[in-house]
Amino acid sequence: MEYQSTRNRDLIVPPSKAVLDGIAKDGGLYMFKDFPKLSLDLDGLSKLETLELYTEILSALLFDFSKAQMRELVKKAYAGKFETPDLTPLVDVGGDFMLELFRGPTCAFKDVALSMLPHLITASIKKNAVTDEILILTATSGDTGKAAMAGFRDVPGTRIIVFFPENGVSAIQKAQMLTQEGGNVHVCAIRGNFDDAQTGVKEVFRRSETENLLDGTPVRLSSANSINIGLLAPQVVYYFKAYFDLVRRGAILLGDRIDFVVPTGNFGNILAGYIAKGMDLPVGKLVCASNENDVLTEFINTGHYNKKRVFHKTASPSMDILISSNLERLIFLLCGSDANRVKGYMNELNTRGEYHVGADVLDRLSNEFAAYACNDAETFETIREVYHAHGYLMDTHTAVAWRVCQTYKSEHPNHHPCVVLSTASPYKFSGSVLPALGEAAHDDEFKMMRRINEITGVPIPKSLAELQTKKALHDHVVNKDEMLGFVLDIAKKRPKI
Ligand SMILES: *Cc1c(COP(=O)(O)O)cnc(C)c1O
Repeated sequence: MEYQSTRNRDLIVPPSKAVLDGIAKDGGLYMFKDFPKLSLDLDGLSKLETLELYTEILSALLFDFSKAQMRELVKKAYAGKFETPDLTPLVDVGGDFMLELFRGPTCAFKDVALSMLPHLITASIKKNAVTDEILILTATSGDTGKAAMAGFRDVPGTRIIVFFPENGVSAIQKAQMLTQEGGNVHVCAIRGNFDDAQTGVKEVFRRSETENLLDGTPVRLSSANSINIGLLAPQVVYYFKAYFDLVRRGAILLGDRIDFVVPTGNFGNILAGYIAKGMDLPVGKLVCASNENDVLTEFINTGHYNKKRVFHKTASPSMDILISSNLERLIFLLCGSDANRVKGYMNELNTRGEYHVGADVLDRLSNEFAAYACNDAETFETIREVYHAHGYLMDTHTAVAWRVCQTYKSEHPNHHPCVVLSTASPYKFSGSVLPALGEAAHDDEFKMMRRINEITGVPIPKSLAELQTKKALHDHVVNKDEMLGFVLDIAKKRPKI
């Protein structure tokens, strides 16, 4: 088993190279053709401790790392870094199950993957005898940037630059980024929106490559967004973990199927669930939950992907996305790893803004997935109702999934036990959660957090509470056409660590 570009059957690399490169040179994504096999059966896996389960599954997916080496990397990434030793607790909420993925250092589910990536990258540097320093560039709409900086902080051989839209992130997210410590981290606000930041980063990659701008500098660029296979792999593990938790508490028997409902943006999280299923986890349906940006709902129900639609700014901003990058990997798998066909669809998306998959792909899609969307009003109503009915407080992204879960169940009476993936702490989105609880929002984010805490008694995560007294360490703001200069300046300076 090797990784190949989704757009070219001849572009093949070992996993550690795919981790280093991030994206394939032809613009495709690296993916395997056949699902990796695990050395243990379900029963054997179910007996493993959490970190050992990570070791087992990660070394199957990224097979050029030995199990012993992976065990070391997993320990460095996770031991003592999350609120609970099992990393991702499963909570019973009114008969459904909430898989809490936000108990990491920055209170977003991206912590699970971004805690691991820096260690995979450093190990891949060694494996591929790379002597250059790796400079990670990331554009963020809020969650990825902070989680990436926390992960890469002071990791030898790496530096990281995060660009965020000056007025496009929540006050808490901004405070999280500007107070980030570490000798190798750089944060820069840009005058523009998230798309400007993302396009700007792609432009830096393109120009530094075509104009050889980093020649003579012992630095190579890489990226930390969800197209990197090194981010996808750790996400597969918590699907197994949630399943075994249900077995352990007697909610299901080993071998029974369960359904997962996933709040979806770039399609990374839910794709990890599909990979878990391909590695023989007994999964029934994977339910894709979207906000008003319902491009995936339409696609999964009709086979028509159409990005030509109004972009909605919603209360669940991490799902405000019209081009879901990781969907390309799913299509690759569903059409029998036919790279030419994938390339054709992606060309149509680029040139015409839409494509239709064939009946064979749509057939497989509807067997494996279901999809629904919900709007902001329904999201707020769901936060309020679930809090009042079960005393459980959730963030806006999770609420979209919860709502969709209830719709899915009512339309599928034969559904299996449902696990809803919870992707952020409610305190990261206080400006939406407080009004959902019936009180007006205002400008002071920390006051809103304290008020939510008074009403609900849900503890404020320590890392968010202490932000108020932390000093801002970064104050760069640039125009989007100044991003390249900013990166080159840093690339040519000697690192501080
Ligand atoms: C990134 C993110 C998502 C979307 O996950 P994808 O893997 O991009 O589909 C959902 N919720 C939150 C809070 C996120 O940060």
